[in-house]
Amino acid sequence: MSLELKPQFDLTAFNALGLRSVAEFYIAITESDQIPQLIRCAAEQNLPVLWLGGGSNLVLGKSVPGIVAQLKLPGVELLETTTDSALLRVGAGEVWHYFVRWTLEQGYHGLENLALIPGSVGASPVQNIGAYGVEVCELIECVDAYDSLSQQWLSFAAEDCQFGYRDSLFKRNPGRFVITRVTFRLNREYHPKLSYAPLAQRFDHQTEIDALEVFEAVCQIRTSKLPDPSTLGNAGSFFKNPVVNQAQFEALHSQYPDIPNYPADSGRKLAAGWLIEQVGLRGYTDGRVGVHRLQALVLVNYGGASRCDLEALAERVKAQVLQKFGVQLEQEPIAYP
Ligand SMILES: Cc1cc2nc3c(=O)[nH]c(=O)nc-3n(C[C@H](O)[C@H](O)[C@H](O)COP(=O)(O)OP(=O)(O)OC[C@H]3O[C@@H](n4cnc5c(N)ncnc54)[C@H](O)[C@@H]3O)c2cc1C
Repeated sequence: MSLELKPQFDLTAFNALGLRSVAEFYIAITESDQIPQLIRCAAEQNLPVLWLGGGSNLVLGKSVPGIVAQLKLPGVELLETTTDSALLRVGAGEVWHYFVRWTLEQGYHGLENLALIPGSVGASPVQNIGAYGVEVCELIECVDAYDSLSQQWLSFAAEDCQFGYRDSLFKRNPGRFVITRVTFRLNREYHPKLSYAPLAQRFDHQTEIDALEVFEAVCQIRTSKLPDPSTLGNAGSFFKNPVVNQAQFEALHSQYPDIPNYPADSGRKLAAGWLIEQVGLRGYTDGRVGVHRLQALVLVNYGGASRCDLEALAERVKAQVLQKFGVQLEQEPIAYP
């Protein structure tokens, strides 16, 4: 099988932030056999490889050295159905949102709260995507990947993926594991998860709730709050919600009694968007980049921005939040190279 590498490939339309970026080489991966072949070829020529999905969680530099390999592996297979569940094995290149909608149309439940998250199925375990009270790890049975270090095909059971808040084994070992398929166990019966306030309010007085209705509600809420990357470059939340220890939380709470906070494994989780709003940066613009006027957690590219423009803004946001609250914000999208 030949590997068709395209030189000097423009990635501006391949990253949701719309940052100007050019790859030394680009290739679309449509068959899994291409992966070991590409890794060998890259090693021979001493070229790094970036495994790309939909580019919705990446902050790309102006030039990306080496090979950008976009995973376009297709396919959805129904492996098994029981009275309670369905087991589905899905190619890494499937578009996440379309897959979620398809599962609901088939009567398979569990992913509805994760509607409209941009990107590919293969990237969903990387940062353990989450929204509206659900994390994808809750529905994952196993992840198939090629280990570029040991040069072996591996299958990771969910409990071996080290899933955490926007975190996993795959995220902690950038570039090492190339995810080719993700297997999901979905429920045939619908168990609504409506703990997130806007959903709870929406379905407050409703006794019969349908998963497709929740899917539609999530889409509507998201559309009203988040800018669409196809019209305004952004990567969704630019910062993780910070987790502080109990002592730090109590000190902050006594000073700011209305500080939004949620339980977390190792303390309390704060809302990064609220912290940014409190330092007065919501709607702040600096040349070609800015903090979104409706959602302070989202940094936007008004057009033609580079990674440097965006990083300068991110540094300003972090510095002001640190100065006022003593809380260190951590960037969520992955910077490359
Ligand atoms: C408007 C907007 C809203 C968003 N909302 C949410 C949200 O609510 N919750 C949430 O969790 N995220 C959210 N995100 C972030 C993003 O959608 C997710 O992280 C998504 O899973 C990224 O998918 P992708 O295919 O675009 O990955 P990419 O951006 O292409 O890649 C992300 C990382 O994963 C790696 N990667 C991608 N595919 C593979 C693979 N097959 N094998 C190995 N590594 C791979 C890449 O190398 C990179 O390190 C949002 C983004 C946007 C733009």
